[in-house]
Amino acid sequence: MPYSYDDQNIFAKILRGEIPNKTVLETEHSLAFEDINPQAPQHVLVIPKGHYVTYDHFAAEATDAEIVDYTRAIGAVCRKLGVTLEDGTGYRLLTNAGPDGHQEVPHLHIHVFAGGFLGRMIKVPG
Ligand code: 5GP
Repeated sequence: MPYSYDDQNIFAKILRGEIPNKTVLETEHSLAFEDINPQAPQHVLVIPKGHYVTYDHFAAEATDAEIVDYTRAIGAVCRKLGVTLEDGTGYRLLTNAGPDGHQEVPHLHIHVFAGGFLGRMIKVPG
């Protein structure tokens, strides 16, 4: 079944400027902003400006220009936060998809967590 995109999701509203955000970085095809409910000392969300629901959706349908821009934007955020291994002590990238991934906002976003030791990767419930 093809992906359908809900343009009333909160990140679509942020992209349209209907809801404020604390922008970390903006490029032609991507926007990075602080998470409203940080789960680490530094917690930034990086989203493509295009209407993609999940990572696999983006990987399948985004243009090469969008993919290059988004990939580089995520790296640029890490550099801007000072957490690359050149400048700092690392970070974690994570993206959730669908109900099993506990995705709350149906617009692709990659979480950048940093600012301190983040512990082991994930805790599986049950
Ligand atoms: P998900 O669970 O979908 O992977 O993550 C959604 C993220 O979006 C959560 O970390 C949540 O705190 C963040 N979020 C939800 N609404 C807003 C908002 O209005 N502004 C910002 N900056 N972040 C939001």
